[in-house]
Amino acid sequence: MTANLLDFDLEGLAVFCERLGEKRFRATQLFRWIHQKGASEFDDMSDLAKSLREKLKAHAHIQSLPVVSQHLSADGTIKWLFDVGAGNAVEAVFIPEDDRGTLCISSQAGCAVGCRFCSTGHQGFSRNLTTAEILSQLWFAEHFLRKHLKVSERVISNVVMMGMGEPLQNYSALVPALKAMLDDHGYGLSRRRVTVSTSGVVPMMDRLSIDCPVALAVSLHAPTDALRDSLVPLNKKYPIDELLQTCIRYLAHAPRDFITFEYCMLDGVNDQPEHAELLIGLVQFHARQGLRCKFNLIPFNPFPASGLLRSPQERVQAFAKQLQNAGLVTTVRKTRGDDIDAACGQLAGDVKDRTQVKARIAQQRMIMLRAVNEH
Ligand code: SAH
Ligand code: SF4
Repeated sequence: MTANLLDFDLEGLAVFCERLGEKRFRATQLFRWIHQKGASEFDDMSDLAKSLREKLKAHAHIQSLPVVSQHLSADGTIKWLFDVGAGNAVEAVFIPEDDRGTLCISSQAGCAVGCRFCSTGHQGFSRNLTTAEILSQLWFAEHFLRKHLKVSERVISNVVMMGMGEPLQNYSALVPALKAMLDDHGYGLSRRRVTVSTSGVVPMMDRLSIDCPVALAVSLHAPTDALRDSLVPLNKKYPIDELLQTCIRYLAHAPRDFITFEYCMLDGVNDQPEHAELLIGLVQFHARQGLRCKFNLIPFNPFPASGLLRSPQERVQAFAKQLQNAGLVTTVRKTRGDDIDAACGQLAGDVKDRTQVKARIAQQRMIMLRAVNEH
C-alpha cells in the first residue's frame, strides 16, 4: 500500500522524501502543490522532475475522503458528509461570514466522552480519524470552494475542531493536521484562527500548549462538579478546579490571551440565575490566579434521545446579561445551518447501509461536478 500524502505535516513529508532518496526541500514543493494548489495528481506538478513524479506515483497517492452528501443551507452554510468506511461518516461544516470563512471539522467517528446533550456522544465511539482524514476535510472544502467561487485566494480563514469527536482523545493524528493548517507552505492559518475545542482532557491540554499552541475552547457547561459530572462524564476524571488550573497554564502559551468557555444552554438544567451566580464566583476565584476567559453561550440543539430541551431565548439573554453585568465577556452563538442539521451537536453521521453510501457518493460526484461547471 502506498502512502497517502495527506497524512503528513511538512516535517513528516520531508522524512518521507528522504526515505525515497530525495532532498528535503522537495517536500516543500510537494506540500505546496497538495495544500496550496489542491493537486491530487503527480503529473500536474509541473516543476517536479519526471523521475521524481514517477517515483512518487509508485510510492504515494493523494486521496481525500469520499463525499457522501452536500447540503447548502439558506444562510450559506454548507455541510459535507464524508464516508470513513465501515458504515461510518463524519461531517464538516463551512460557515461563511462577512469577514471570515470558518470550517468546522471532525476528529473522530463518534465520541467516547458521551456528553448527555450531544448526539455524537449518544452514537458512541467508532474510531479515531487519521491525520489524512482530518486534513482531507479542509483540503476538500478549501479547494472545492475556490473552484466553486472561481477564486484563487484562500476562502477558509478559520478552522474550529468542533465537529464530531473529542480532538484531544485523538492527539497523535490531530497535531500533524494542526501543523499543516498553520504551515506557511500549507494553509498558512494564524494560530489565533485555529481553535481546538475540548471537553477537558487535562493532560493533553498541557501537551498541546507545548506541541502546537492554538486557540482553545473548553466545553464547561456547568458551574459545579455535581452538575458537570452528569453532563460531561469526563468531569469525574478531570474535575472543574483541575480543568481551570490547566486553562491557566495553557494561557502562558496560548496565541490569544483568553480561553473561550462554551456553555450549552439546557432548559431548567444549567440555565438558572443561580447557575450564572455560581459561574461568576467560580471564574472570579480563578481570575485571581490568572484565568482570563470569555463565554460563548450555545443554544442547545435538541434531539429526541437526549430528553433535554433548549432554554427559551429570554433565559439565554438574561443569563448572558447576568454574566456581562459581572464583567464577564459573553456572547450568544448564532445558530447557523440548523435547517440542514449542521448546528452544534447535530452532527450524527451514522451511515448504516454501505450500498446506499456508494450510490450516494456517485450521485453526489455528479451534482458537485455540475455545480462546479455551472459557476
Ligand atoms: N468534543 C469537543 C468538540 C466537539 S463538540 C467538545 O466537546 O468541546 C463542539 C461543541 O458543541 C462543544 O462545546 C459541545 O459541547 C457543543 N455541543 C454538543 N452537542 C450540542 C448540542 N446538541 N447543542 C449545542 N451544542 C452542542
Ligand atoms: Fe464528545 Fe464533544 Fe460531543 Fe462531548 S460534546 S460527546 S466531548 S463530541
